[in-house]
Amino acid sequence: MALTFESFLGSVGLSGTEAQSLTGAYVGKSSSPLALACQVAQLCLGQDNVHTAPLNQTLVDENWSQVVISEPYCILQPSNTNDVSNAVKIISYFQVKFAVRSGGHSPNPGFSSIGQGGVLLDLQKLDQIVLSSDKSVASLGPGGRWGDVISTLDAQGATVIGGRIPDVGVGGLILGGGFSHYSGEFGLAADNVKNFEIVLADGTVTAANAALNSDLFWALKGGGPNFGIVTRFDLNTVPVGQIWYQVTVYSVDQAHEVLDAFVEWQNNGASDVKSTVALIMGLQSITVGLIYSEPTEQPSAFAPFYSLTALAVAVPGTIGTNGSLTILLGMSASSTIERHDYRAASSRIDSQLYKDVYAFWRERALVVHGTTGANQTFCIQPVPANLAEEGIAKGGNPMGIPTENHQWWTTLIDWTNASDDEAVRQVSIDTTNQWKALGEERKLWLPHLFMNDASRDQNPIGAYGDDNVAKLKEIALKYDKNRVFQTLQNGGFLLSEVN
Ligand SMILES: Cc1cc2nc3c(=O)[nH]c(=O)nc-3n(C[C@H](O)[C@H](O)[C@H](O)COP(=O)(O)OP(=O)(O)OC[C@H]3O[C@@H](n4cnc5c(N)ncnc54)[C@H](O)[C@@H]3O)c2cc1C
Repeated sequence: MALTFESFLGSVGLSGTEAQSLTGAYVGKSSSPLALACQVAQLCLGQDNVHTAPLNQTLVDENWSQVVISEPYCILQPSNTNDVSNAVKIISYFQVKFAVRSGGHSPNPGFSSIGQGGVLLDLQKLDQIVLSSDKSVASLGPGGRWGDVISTLDAQGATVIGGRIPDVGVGGLILGGGFSHYSGEFGLAADNVKNFEIVLADGTVTAANAALNSDLFWALKGGGPNFGIVTRFDLNTVPVGQIWYQVTVYSVDQAHEVLDAFVEWQNNGASDVKSTVALIMGLQSITVGLIYSEPTEQPSAFAPFYSLTALAVAVPGTIGTNGSLTILLGMSASSTIERHDYRAASSRIDSQLYKDVYAFWRERALVVHGTTGANQTFCIQPVPANLAEEGIAKGGNPMGIPTENHQWWTTLIDWTNASDDEAVRQVSIDTTNQWKALGEERKLWLPHLFMNDASRDQNPIGAYGDDNVAKLKEIALKYDKNRVFQTLQNGGFLLSEVN
């Protein structure tokens, strides 16, 4: 039975004179549901946690890409789980559109931003980082950033599978899977979650883990924003202490040599799952990061790279920690250009396929660079079979990741002018089409799409496989029978859009 307005106000902790004034506004229909939702939220969450017009522009602008920035009707900044619960009850009751933002690093419009037609739930005040006394579990708030998480844990001699770049948010990265340098050895970030604390569509706060709500636990490991708002991730720490890394820069003329070395390592060296390679092919140069999860100098797994002649050694072989590596990557990741995008494709390992798609991409990316100034990268992320096997061993996930050695291609794209949006995006769209066309022709294509690299028009959940999609839909309906998260949520990889 639907709640009366008075009992709804009681359910979010309001009564007395506050409730009476709101009842007058609601019953007299003098306010829109959106205005009332923001007004009720102000009374529940406090004035400091609910921002209405004129909004603080810095708060509005916090998304990573200018492409997605939009000014919501109001911004709710819950400061604890109870605030999130009340916010969700308010959204459900007034049936208002909403978006959820943790770190705001999705470049997909409307995923973690919304315009005047809705409210933005900004989770940045939920940024706790607490390591258990035995250092086995790190409890993280969704609104934290990976740089703070990794450095805080590093100082205590612990680490987790998480983001590689400091500014990226905790919430979105884990819910989309979460690929780290150590994923080949330990699985994705989501695979290493011990427990989720989640607020469901009716405002209920619950846990999801192997023993409680185990179906929801499975679904949350890569199922995106379809089930509720996660307010805490309890992540098992991983036994990575001191590590070895080296960063070398090559000329673009060496692209084929570098790709050959990469493929040789993928086929042979990568069986040592402590080794991983970050390969970033830019328009002006190629950067190769060799990372080994133990303090071994010049690990033999990387032998194919040692015979290449580098243009420059950006970071000589170094014994460090995940914390020092993350700081280093943060310095190299800063970009002053404000419009961004990324995109995903997967394939089996094949040197000729890599070279052919690279040549196709480079020709187009150079032309568009000439006309728009856009910088684009061509990144091949190595995915050993062990990554998927770790996920299965840790209870399974819905992502349907192939249990074979393969790669997840992605691109980071930076540009300046809105008038160039389409021309710039077209390069990556054409490139993913080319991965598919050549890959299918050569029996090297894999339909899997990594959600955290997928662009707005791609369908990563659809690529998880029919059985996983059917199961995800069933679980979503069980925990959110009115499909609040699939229909009122402004954007995101929503199950309601997957056939
Ligand atoms: C520079 C850069 C580096 C990156 N590096 C990596 C990497 O190393 N590994 C990797 O896997 N990915 C990486 N990514 C991709 C990144 O994981 C995704 O963009 C992710 O969505 C960002 O998380 P966020 O919290 O910042 O995102 P947001 O934009 O805040 O959210 C993204 C989506 O998740 C939803 N969401 C966020 N928090 C919650 C929550 N608590 N409950 C429910 N739904 C929620 C949002 O509604 C939205 O749909 C990188 C991206 C960039 C731009």
